[in-house]
Amino acid sequence: MYDIAQLDVPPLRRVAGTVRLPGSKSISNRVLLLAGLAEGRTEIHDLLDSDDTRVMLQALRRLGCGIATDGGLTTVTGIGGSLRHLRAPLALHLGNAGTAMRPLAAALALLATRDGGEIELSGVARMHERPIGDLVDALRQLGAQIDYLDHDGFPPLRIRAGGALHTERPIRVRGDVSSQFLSALLLALPLVSGGGGPITVEVDGELISRPYVELTLALLQRFGITVQHQDLQRFVIPAGSRYRAPARIHVEGDASSASYFIAAGAIAAVEAPLRIEGVGLDSIQGDIRFIDAARAMGAQVTGGASWIEVRRGAWPLAATTLDCNHMPDAAMTLAAMALYAEGRTRLTRIGSWRVKETDRIAAMAAELRKLGASVVDGADFIEVEPPASPGAWRRATLHTYDDHRMAMCLSLAAFNPLLGARVAVRLLDPRCVGKTFPEYFETLFGVAQTDAADIPVIAVDGPTASGKGTLAAEVAARLGWHQLDSGALYRATALAAMRAGVASSDVDALERLAAGLALRFDGDRAYLDGVDVSAALRHEAVGALASHVSALPAVRQALHARQLSFRRVPGLVADGRDMGTVVFPDATLKVFLTASAAMRAERRHKQLMAKGISAKLDALRADLEARDVRDMQRAVSPLKPAQDALLLDNSSLTVEQSADRVLQWWNERSAFD
Ligand code: C5P
Repeated sequence: MYDIAQLDVPPLRRVAGTVRLPGSKSISNRVLLLAGLAEGRTEIHDLLDSDDTRVMLQALRRLGCGIATDGGLTTVTGIGGSLRHLRAPLALHLGNAGTAMRPLAAALALLATRDGGEIELSGVARMHERPIGDLVDALRQLGAQIDYLDHDGFPPLRIRAGGALHTERPIRVRGDVSSQFLSALLLALPLVSGGGGPITVEVDGELISRPYVELTLALLQRFGITVQHQDLQRFVIPAGSRYRAPARIHVEGDASSASYFIAAGAIAAVEAPLRIEGVGLDSIQGDIRFIDAARAMGAQVTGGASWIEVRRGAWPLAATTLDCNHMPDAAMTLAAMALYAEGRTRLTRIGSWRVKETDRIAAMAAELRKLGASVVDGADFIEVEPPASPGAWRRATLHTYDDHRMAMCLSLAAFNPLLGARVAVRLLDPRCVGKTFPEYFETLFGVAQTDAADIPVIAVDGPTASGKGTLAAEVAARLGWHQLDSGALYRATALAAMRAGVASSDVDALERLAAGLALRFDGDRAYLDGVDVSAALRHEAVGALASHVSALPAVRQALHARQLSFRRVPGLVADGRDMGTVVFPDATLKVFLTASAAMRAERRHKQLMAKGISAKLDALRADLEARDVRDMQRAVSPLKPAQDALLLDNSSLTVEQSADRVLQWWNERSAFD
């Protein structure tokens, strides 16, 4: 998860390989609710692990459900359709999860009316701006006691006991604001169908997002309830319906999440298809129909029961005009694909975009315009035309509106080199993808490729113990980039030599060791021949030998290509002695640290003492100075600032302050609008 303030996505040129999708949000939260209300235990496989499902799981726990997780398996023991066990009023915070707020409001309101209980439902500020009045009206018709705690028609809500349930009359609900209102009722009503006859629900006005209602019906079926309906306008829930836990249920991959990779394949899978695993052509999710729209724009899509392969067909893509009522979420991805289409793409009947995580019509229009596209937006449509020429693409800083789909859609703008442009895209608050797809960017960067020259590098060079490594790690973490600790490669060569008994004068053997080094990094750990050597690499003796070994041109040459291979999307912070001068001479930003020898010796002394290793300050300083001399005077890659390096004396700066300075320089250099 990119838990950072901004993510710079470099210009991307290709996608290739395989992605595995996280579980569907819509299925996950419906299944959780059903399993939580049912009697008995449900084993849920491949449940989505994201902000929205965590909110639902937390609410179910508070309601008394038993929940156990073990890897990809979640086991839910339901409360058997009753609230009688609740002793005290309960307050549930549901974040910004519409798929938790609506169905829980309905189910708890009906159960509290029948069983007693008092429950408050609230969310984040945006949740309190998302309408729920039509659902509350429908529930009140049934006799539920619901108070608005803030503004009429919006959460937060208080659900109270008190009324009597009237399920004999048909219940009317509006279908044209959010299909979640209808789904919520359909999920809740079976809980109170025990008393009288069947319960009828009628939809007022046109029903939007019909596939989501079909999904609700399919999942109700899995829990033992068959709802009869006439063309999704009139529904009958049989008397005496009871949720029965289906023992085990599997959550398919998220079809809406698939849309970003289907789009990426249509745009950039040129040589081989991009394979998407976890969802297939016959998925029960309505957003799978996105494939038809992507095909109409040019994508070549094949697939089976749980996989899809996409490659580029027509190029540029063909503009499309489409009624998107049946797939409002995936339709956003079409707006991003429109950046690569010839002509104007028009998406209509997307009014529901306005009441989602943000006003998605306004947000999409504003951000696509920043990229250089021309956009017309209306009450329930959007029209997008790509930037008029390669030069019209802007290096834009894009807002994501705490909306996962905005972030994922806008990331697709990074493929602009395929139209001849070459601009990076800066996404603010990329962590909002956590709502449904926490690993989205890792997944995208796992299949996206570009030219090395387009991947930004920040080089941090400086003498021994200047704090390069710590600074580089901090900068890399804040930017969400990879890190290369080049010193570790020389240290590992030295360690391998010590372990193999190779003499420091045996240049051929040292070169062979360096070239064949089985060294792997995982976070801040280093493994040599599969063994964790992170601590061993820091030993003074290893550092001392590294300083000798690194003066050998053959060793430096042997490690060169390996260092270049660290330059991967989205970016690299590399620290060492010659990052800015020799290895990455085209680095976007070069920093040279210049802390005094006295200060560096003191720091190293403190570090050693903290580890319980005794050392003499004078000796440390003498040793540092000797290494400085060796590093600066060697014939190859001597330690010196690159001509275009910015000097940073960090003697009196904390790591955070130094990192602030580097990030400030990076922001100036990277020159986003
Ligand atoms: O930075 P660190 O102290 O871990 O580096 C270990 C040794 O490797 C240093 O003494 C230095 O001589 C050498 N080195 C190098 N070029 C680099 C990084 C480190 O010569 N880019």
